[in-house]
Formats: sequence, C-alpha cells, structure tokens
Amino acid sequence: MRQDQEFFVYGSLVEVLTTQPIDRLFTYRAPREGCFKGAIVLVPFGQRIVVGLVWGSSTEKIELEKIKTIDRILDFQPLQPEFQDFIWKVADYTVSPLYAVLRLATRVRDLAAQEVYKKLIYKGKVPNQFKMTPARSRVLGALDNLNGIGAPISELAKLAKVSPSVISGMISSGCLFTKMEPKDLPYAKVNTAYSLNELSEDQAQVVFDINNLLDQQGHSSILLCGVTGSGKTAVYLEAISKVIDNGKQALVLLPEIALTGDFTKRIKARFGVSPAEWHSGISQSERRRVWKMVGRGQAQIVIGARSALFLPFEELGLIVVDEEHDSSYKQQDGVLYHARDMAVLRASLAGAKVILASATPSLETWNNAKLGKYKRFNLTKRYGSSVLPDIQVIDMRNEKLRSDQWISPILKYKIEEAIDNNEQALLFLNRRGYAPVTLCRSCGQRIGCDFCDTAMIEHRFQKRLMCHQCGETKPMPRTCPSCQAIDNFAPIGPGVERLAEEATKSFPEASITVLSSDLYSSARSLKDELESISRGNTDIIIGTQLIAKGHNFPNLTVVGVVDPDLGLQGSDLRAAERTFQLLRQVSGRAGRNDKRGTAYLQTYQPQHPVIEAITNGQDEQFWIAEAKGRELAEMPPFGRLVGILISAQNSEDAFEIGYKLSKKATILSSAGITLYGPAPAPITRVRGRYRVRMLLKASKAVSMQSVIKLWLSGLNLRKDIRLVIDVDPQSFL
Ligand code: ADP
Ligand code: ZN
Repeated sequence: MRQDQEFFVYGSLVEVLTTQPIDRLFTYRAPREGCFKGAIVLVPFGQRIVVGLVWGSSTEKIELEKIKTIDRILDFQPLQPEFQDFIWKVADYTVSPLYAVLRLATRVRDLAAQEVYKKLIYKGKVPNQFKMTPARSRVLGALDNLNGIGAPISELAKLAKVSPSVISGMISSGCLFTKMEPKDLPYAKVNTAYSLNELSEDQAQVVFDINNLLDQQGHSSILLCGVTGSGKTAVYLEAISKVIDNGKQALVLLPEIALTGDFTKRIKARFGVSPAEWHSGISQSERRRVWKMVGRGQAQIVIGARSALFLPFEELGLIVVDEEHDSSYKQQDGVLYHARDMAVLRASLAGAKVILASATPSLETWNNAKLGKYKRFNLTKRYGSSVLPDIQVIDMRNEKLRSDQWISPILKYKIEEAIDNNEQALLFLNRRGYAPVTLCRSCGQRIGCDFCDTAMIEHRFQKRLMCHQCGETKPMPRTCPSCQAIDNFAPIGPGVERLAEEATKSFPEASITVLSSDLYSSARSLKDELESISRGNTDIIIGTQLIAKGHNFPNLTVVGVVDPDLGLQGSDLRAAERTFQLLRQVSGRAGRNDKRGTAYLQTYQPQHPVIEAITNGQDEQFWIAEAKGRELAEMPPFGRLVGILISAQNSEDAFEIGYKLSKKATILSSAGITLYGPAPAPITRVRGRYRVRMLLKASKAVSMQSVIKLWLSGLNLRKDIRLVIDVDPQSFL
C-alpha cells in the first residue's frame, strides 16, 4: 500500500544508511529544503560524498557541531516504508550488514548523475495541403505505435525505416514537433486489453480462481503447479493484467537471462508493449531509467533476474517467480539470499501477491502448499493438441558400449528416425567441456587446478583447460606437470564436447549444435542461438542444464538423457530432488507441438526411486516420499540449516577460528542448535584458500539468526581470514 512518508524539516537530525562498508547508521542534518524518510541522498562522508538512504529520525547523542548536513536529495521517489522494512529484514534473515543490502538496492552506477535532457519528436497537426508519401506515413505510424511517447530523431528514423531528412522536413512543416525531455523516459503504458489469449478450460478455471485471490486485500502466496507445456505463462499473464487494472505493478523473475528475449515477446504480444528489463545484460543508463521509473510507477511490468527484487517499486501488486525450483535463485556471493524466499517476504511486506510457477516445485514450496500456507493450483494437461512425452528407460547394464561411446544403439536409431522425419533431437548431459578428468597415461596423475582442489576440465573447442571452481584457464599442456611425459594424456568420461564428437561420427549428415554456457560470450549470442534452434536450424542439440530452463523448441521430438544417474551419486541433501526436477524438465522439452515426443533415460539404475517416479509419472508420490525422508531426518523444509564457511591462506588459521567457535557451542546448544564441525570442506581449497565448514541445525521453531549473532560476537577476524554465514544453504561443497 502506498503511504505518505514522514517529512523532516531543515535542521532536524536524521539517520542515514550509506553504502559504505561500516555496519551502522550515521546522523546528519536535514537540508534546507527538508527531506522525506526514504529519500535517496548524497552525504559528506570523510573526504568524499557518498550515496545514502534517509532511514528515520536520529536520537543519537552526538555533539551538534560534528553533525554534517545532507548534501543533496537525488531525483528519485522516496523509498516506500515496506521497502525499507524489506532491506532490514533481508539483512536480519541473511545475517548481513544493512549497507550490503542497500548496495543490492542501489546498483546503478550513475544514480547521482544530473538529469540529462534530449530532444524528442512528437506528432503535431498535419497541415491540410501536406503531401503524404509512404515514408511520411510510416513516420506517423511509428509514432502512433509509441502511444504518445516521443522518440529521438535517430530512433524514429530507424523505426520508420526512413532517412532523418524525411523527419526534419516533417518538423519544419509543423507535422511533427520537438520538445526537450529528460533522458530517463517512462515506459509505455500497458494495454491490458491489447490482445487476449484464448484460454483452455483448465487455464480459464485457474485464472478465475487466482483472480478471486487477487481481488482480496493483503498478501497471499500461490503455487502454480503445471506440467511442462501446460501454459503457466498464459495463466500468470492474466494475473499480471488484473494487477495492472487494479493500478499496481508486477514483477516477473526468471532464472536465466537468456530467457528474457522469448518472454519479452510474449509480454508484447499480450499487452502491446515491452516490459522494463533488469539484469546484468542491460546498460547503466537503462538501469538508471528502470530504477527511477519503477519508483514513480511508470514501469508497470518489470522482468528480471533475482536482483530485480531490490527495485524501489511505487506500488507492487504481484511478484511472479517463474521456475521457482531453480537453484540459480540462490545468490552465491555477497548477501546470500534466496530470491524465491525473499520474493515471498517482499510481497508479504508490501501486501502483494506472489505466484511461484513450476512443473517441479521445490520441496519447500510443495510443503508450504500442503500445509495450506500457499494456495496451490494445478494444470495437469499440456495446452492445445500437444501431449506429455512418453518416457522410456534404456537399461545400460544390457548395452555393451565401447569405453569411448555413450550413445546406445536404440537411442541412435531413434535419433536417426527423428532426423529422417525432419524433427529435432536433444542429447542432454550435465557436464561442460570435453571430459571431466584428464589423466597422464604414464604416471596416472590427473591434471588439477593450481589454486583449487579440483580437476582441470579440458575444453577442446577452446583448446584450454579450465577450472570450474575458480575459472582459471590455461592452454592444454603437452608435457605432464608431474612426470614430464610428452603428449600422453587420456580423457576420462564424457562432457558435452566429447559427446558432440561421438554424435558427429554417428550422424555424419546431421547438423549439430552444442549449448553450454561456456561456449557463448554473451547472453545475446546465446539468445540468438536459441532462437535459431527453435526455427529448426539444427538437427541435434547437445546441451547441459542450460537447456532445461523452459526453452520452447517446437520441432523437438526425441530427448536422450545420456547419464541420468549423474546427479544421484552425490551425498547432497537435495540430490534426489534436483535430479528429479532436472530429468522432468529435460524430458519436458520433447513434443511441445502436435507431434508426440519421447524421452529416453540411459540409466544403470532403472529401479532407483527417482528414475521410477519419472518414468511412471508419479510426481506427487515422489514428493511425498522425499518429504517423509526429510522429515525423519529433521532436514529442510522440516528443520533449519545454517552453513558457516571459514577460509584462510592455510588450513591451521581456518581451523583455529573453527575451534574457537566450537568452544562457545553452549550458546548454540542452549538455544536448541546442534553444531557439526569444524571439518575440511569437501572442496578443501578454492582460489588458493583453505576452507573449513561448520553446519548448524535446529528445528523450525528456533530462530537461529539472533543466536548466531551472539555466538559470533566478539570474534575478531584477521584481514586475511573470511567467515561466511549461509542461511538455508543450497550448496555444501
Ligand atoms: P509452461 O511454461 O507451462 O511449460 P508455456 O507457457 O510455455 O508452458 O506454454 C506452452 C506452449 O503453449 C507455448 O508455446 C505457448 O505459447 C502455448 N500456449 C499456452 N497457453 C496458450 C494460450 N492460452 N493461447 C495460446 N497459446 C498458448
Ligand atoms: Zn581453480
């Protein structure tokens, strides 16, 4: 709900949160013109001027002469109180300093830059005897498409496919006029009646039910659980429409920025305008524009990566988290927040709704729906004439393949058949590079990273070795680093590049595309590739988990999962859950159009519960069984975990801190928290630093954060030692 902010008159003392790395608020005097709570300001800080947020009134006891005055109020709407609450609660939940969260919220480089103006062109009055040529009428048409928003001459010329001189001529005749406008323009107004999708009966029912919820006041969370291809997007686009009709803003989070292209098109098709975008692929000037317009309510639909959660919405009505189970929603450095969970928090503080959409919800979300905390709506059929793929197991124990082959004869035959029918096939293997391990045949040593405790992975396309932990690369050596033998390396096991090599030999006529994140220099080039594939420009796609994330390849009918057992081997808490999700999503790429698709799982463990659940379509049973196991072990979502990672130049220093903390473990145990460790992390060394882990576990009833703060208080870390707190860890490596 939009609220009027408290106002501080000239000279009143206010607390300001700055982005400087000092974990406290500072007192300043309100400037001559006064300031609102929530204002974004510049303040003197030592010798510098820095960005800050007016947090509230100050009661700090401090000598009056020492208090400096706020330098300038930046031209943004003051942040809403719910957003300030959100910053505070994210910091509290993730045990992070407030400034670190404010930094997430102000990631615009030239936030403080003065407003820049530019000349824009608008439609004027067409004079009576004006000669209308096709070029001139294209110019007027292009302006009509902008719904009253002006355009710079160069852009208008491009849109109308005319030369700038045509436009200049129209200006001098009064047909068009120009006006100086701020460079940061509002986003075009959404037209919710622009083009309605015809909904299936199931979709219409779910839209009806969700709309009823949207009409109610206050917060609620919705799980939209629909099989792959059921048309979840069409459903939540209607929810967005409703929210916009109610005068509020909508935010859609996507797990992968390569998906934004496709999604933007769908928004445009439905609402006539493109949404504002917020992710690492947009320019700094666009960032500034989004930030400003979101605050004024002049960006009605925003799509973005997890960081879009920290935009200063004027009046947020709905957050959609698409593919909510996706593990990329967890931020892996800095403030370690989970965007799905923080989306629910943000929506609850703003009195907004949240829709979590997935074919394979996380166990956390599934359980919240089961408990009735979230309302669950299901779509059980694919949209239109498309049906769910058939899933078949290929029992690899019966296939006698050579040690450098991974495509079974049955799968090979099915792929050939698809290509003969002018259809596409997909080979899925969740391993980047050529081979997961490279050994020296003379001494048997694997090539490892110089800085990490991991193997270097050969990337043959780039002719380099790469460490998937720290990103270090080096040319493929000719001599073994251990025994100096020359040209005697053996690749062990397959990566996507090696699989592509086999496919090239097996299907010499076919065109093959490898999709792996390391092969694309930018999100743009990946987007282009995805588009080209969906137009049918390749016969066989070979890819890593990148392709599992909701791309539509309409002509794809055969999916071969080369090693579905891969993810089941780890001891990770979520190994089964993640594998289940991945296999269901990858299989779900098949048969998205009217041709029926089939997914083949080449497994050595056909009786494994995950493989059985996938092949028999027993998703609900899988979740029930998985939930039971977690509940017995009091693991999330039935218990809480917090990971502690200590890293230092050598293992003694890291362990010393660990032992120091374990001596204070009574603080934890008396609050009902069990401490495991310190122990060497599974990957003991990354980027040259030794890593020691501790794990804290408690029941749901315990709020661990305040106890952890107490436990860690008074711990003075040397500059070269780092301690990271990971609430609700997703990775235990
Ligand atoms: P999901 O996200 O549930 O896997 P999508 O939303 O991608 O499914 O929909 C699958 C396909 O069906 C897409 O090509 C989409 O354009 C189409 N589709 C779904 N619902 C509709 C609808 N109501 N009208 C037209 N096309 C639809
Ligand atoms: Zn490394």
